[in-house]
Amino acid sequence: MSFDVLIRGGTVVTPSGSRQADVAVQGSRIAAVEAAIPVESAGRVVDATGLLVLPGVIDVHTHTRIASDAEPDRFFQDSVAAAYGGTTTFLSFNNPGTGISVAAQGRLRDGVAEWLDRTVGDSAIDYGLSAVITAQQASPEADLAWAVEQGVSTFKAFMVFDFGVDEAALGRLLAGTASLGALLEIHCEDRAMLERGIAAQMAARRTAPRHHADSRPPEVEASGTERAIALAARARAPMYAVHVSCGDAVATIRAAKVRGEAVFAETCPHFLALDSRVYEGTDDEAMRYVISPPLRSRHDVDALWTGLADGTLDVVATDHVPDRLAVEKRYTGQPFTEISNGAPGIETLLAIVYSEGVAKGRITLERMVDVLSTTPARLFGMPSKGVIEVGKDADLVLFDPSAARIIRAADLHHTSDYTPYEGMAVRGAVRHVLLRGQDVIRSGEFVGRRGFGRYQERSIVSR
Ligand SMILES: [Zn+2]
Repeated sequence: MSFDVLIRGGTVVTPSGSRQADVAVQGSRIAAVEAAIPVESAGRVVDATGLLVLPGVIDVHTHTRIASDAEPDRFFQDSVAAAYGGTTTFLSFNNPGTGISVAAQGRLRDGVAEWLDRTVGDSAIDYGLSAVITAQQASPEADLAWAVEQGVSTFKAFMVFDFGVDEAALGRLLAGTASLGALLEIHCEDRAMLERGIAAQMAARRTAPRHHADSRPPEVEASGTERAIALAARARAPMYAVHVSCGDAVATIRAAKVRGEAVFAETCPHFLALDSRVYEGTDDEAMRYVISPPLRSRHDVDALWTGLADGTLDVVATDHVPDRLAVEKRYTGQPFTEISNGAPGIETLLAIVYSEGVAKGRITLERMVDVLSTTPARLFGMPSKGVIEVGKDADLVLFDPSAARIIRAADLHHTSDYTPYEGMAVRGAVRHVLLRGQDVIRSGEFVGRRGFGRYQERSIVSR
């Protein structure tokens, strides 16, 4: 027998096209993608008739929490949840609040070392780190080259929040990452405009959760995005705008791309599937959607889909924050500024993008695979992943496009106790997931194991 596994009769999807083909796996790699590979050639056959065969999803934006004494299973459990959703690789940030110790927050190098140490043997799927750079770290530029050697080829800085950096620091970080061939991800919001926005809401005693959105309207994000792009151009550095949420920011990014600048951008499933009407509910409802940036208008949602379809937006990733209504998101009448920002999403990425995007005709199946797998692998330095091709890791998702289901928190596996998509009807379902040739999900159930996930030493990519 020449192959370990044969996935037979499915429709193989790549960014350049879809075709009926069998996929043969040998060891951890894809060994053949051809029509009608003989079943006798494989030790095991998986029937994919009627199913799409997709490359495993790569979620490059999560705030999963590393294991703690009180919650030893939380990193593992969110990795299992990701697998259920068809994600085979995820990248985490190590920002304050993700379990990183206060001591390790003082230096970039210490934060990276601690995160690597505390995640060993814990994930069910492949994983990596995008290291967060904060205003509190002592000379982070000095540690960039060391971090790149550890396989951390992307970094993230914030323009707002107490750990955000100022423009001078951002300029230095852009130059420093560019000189190493690394990529800086930026949370783009204009700090001065945001501070004025929050002060105006507080002065008017508009402190309820829904006013979180009023405090950071689209112009705050658009202005921050413009500044970041200008700083990157001056430093001749590539940049990656995380969680783009509004049409004005999409337009700014589109203009930069037209000028030929190396500006890359991401949006998130919640911005594609939900809109600001969620803030019209009760405080306890609105509380669930305290996210930065906040959810926007229907007009912005449409602009994001257009940007995704025309290539202005490169990636969809979750911004998963495993907050719980029973813990971090308990509403006790505190002003919105005191409410934890973020929402869970690690398990529902493919579900939302397929159902809201492909099934509704807003993007093609091929474009979906590009923004969920192929481009994330390329931009984030994982050349063995992201596409179904001979020689690549056998990270494969068998997806049933004809399935219909309702998303319910009770059916999900993440560490959060709610989902922003509660009650949403979606098309499609993950049936089977292989990671490096091994079953992780079989017949819709987790069959993988803790520690199978391998840390991704990510490379520098010429973009
Ligand atoms: Zn985030």
